[in-house]
Amino acid sequence: MNQLIAAIREIVGPQGVLEGEDVRARPATVQGGSCEARAIIRPGSTEEVSRVLRLCHEASQPVVPYGGGTGLVEGAVASPGELMLSLERMNRIEEVDTLGRAMVVQAGVPVQRVQETAEDAGLFFAVDFGARGTATIGGAISTNAGGNRVLRYGMLRDQVLGLEAVMADGTVVSAMQRFIKNNAGYDLKHLFIGSEGTLGIVTRAALRLRPLPRSRHTAMLALDRYQHVQELLALLDTELGGTLSGFEVMWNDFYRMVVEGPTGHRPPLGVDHGYYVLVECLSADPAPENPRFRAALEQAMQRELVSDAVIAESRAQQDALWAIRDDIPTLLQLMAPLLPFDISLNLHEIDAFVLDVRERLSRRWPEVDSVSFGHLGDGNLHLVVGIGQDNPERRRQVDDVVYNAVRERGGSVSAEHGIGKEKLPYLAWSRSAEEVSLMRTLKGSLDPRRILNPGKLLD
Ligand SMILES: Cc1cc2nc3c(=O)[nH]c(=O)nc-3n(C[C@H](O)[C@H](O)[C@H](O)COP(=O)(O)OP(=O)(O)OC[C@H]3O[C@@H](n4cnc5c(N)ncnc54)[C@H](O)[C@@H]3O)c2cc1C
Repeated sequence: MNQLIAAIREIVGPQGVLEGEDVRARPATVQGGSCEARAIIRPGSTEEVSRVLRLCHEASQPVVPYGGGTGLVEGAVASPGELMLSLERMNRIEEVDTLGRAMVVQAGVPVQRVQETAEDAGLFFAVDFGARGTATIGGAISTNAGGNRVLRYGMLRDQVLGLEAVMADGTVVSAMQRFIKNNAGYDLKHLFIGSEGTLGIVTRAALRLRPLPRSRHTAMLALDRYQHVQELLALLDTELGGTLSGFEVMWNDFYRMVVEGPTGHRPPLGVDHGYYVLVECLSADPAPENPRFRAALEQAMQRELVSDAVIAESRAQQDALWAIRDDIPTLLQLMAPLLPFDISLNLHEIDAFVLDVRERLSRRWPEVDSVSFGHLGDGNLHLVVGIGQDNPERRRQVDDVVYNAVRERGGSVSAEHGIGKEKLPYLAWSRSAEEVSLMRTLKGSLDPRRILNPGKLLD
């Protein structure tokens, strides 16, 4: 190992290798802990990534790719015999093509910098989520991140025009085209999008940009029946003519915990409603008023879908509404030790699922509590379970309870966070044996020595 690290240092230079305390000082996950990798390798170019991987391939040395470390499924966690490969020094925005509506970036650029650079150029990078300041484009591509605007613009996959990746043996595959259509054979970029660093290291990407919306309209609505949540989504989707970009639902338990928590949010609505929906509409119309948005909300009130509502009148009020939805730190503080779940289900089944899981958990462990919220516009529920006792057995048992309920309904155990190490035992609960077998075939042929992120996604 020491020889290998010395050879890698020759490639990446002294600032490209961290060892000892510099490694330990880094957190293992967003929930804490300490990085256990033997060393952190920080290449400065695609060529250096390629040369490092060639050496690791020859030595059958496991490598864990690392972006911003914000992933929620232990996908970037390294064990003591592993090398971590961080893209943090590859953080250049190479080009903004305003007419072609594309941006070429290195993988280590944070998502928020892409958003801000696009905005400075009068354009829009559509993916957005709470960890935007730290999560990198390489990590977001590798997890096929979703977030708050999937309803309108799709997932990260839909924002990638082209990419460059380095295979396990060091081969560089450059598929950096910037056009939307390319049916000349297999579209290989999709091998790397959402494969969690198990098939290659993403080093650069050509991202799709959209026209910058000229106005943003935000409201928070209180509802008392889940049936009304579904009807509201259908109504707004129809009435807002494709401009509905966010439909975030918080169950009463989530809303109450956050607005009554230590952060000091001013509750925009009373705390006794069953559901709170944060609605956002991005429009090309520059007018501060949006008659269509107001008319749609009035229609929802007239049809008695909505019990109470507040419409943000300023950017500060919009941010205050989003701050409630994004206040995951309060959950982490009040519910730890906890398990976060990220589930896809048919929309009409989600509330019944929440009630069912709550009941199964409290019957078995009265001290266990849970809160629910999610990107309901996409059928994506986040369920956070405070597990009471922090031990592996309890974690496994709670996982089993929740994922059994998912399996019974034919849902997915991962809507947008991926499988990582944490959900490994449950991949086959929402994929068929044939699908898992094909995944193994791909892994075996692209990374025959299994050096790329071993023990993640597939065991
Ligand atoms: C507060 C909070 C809110 C979040 N909200 C959302 C949300 O709404 N939607 C959502 O989808 N996710 C969300 N996440 C999860 C997380 O932010 C995303 O998964 C993000 O895409 C990970 O990016 P990263 O750069 O931090 O990757 P990391 O955590 O460093 O890595 C994630 C995975 O990608 C691999 N990887 C990283 N970089 C590369 C690369 N260059 N090449 C190959 N593989 C690589 C890693 O090995 C690992 O398997 C949230 C996280 C937090 C903490």
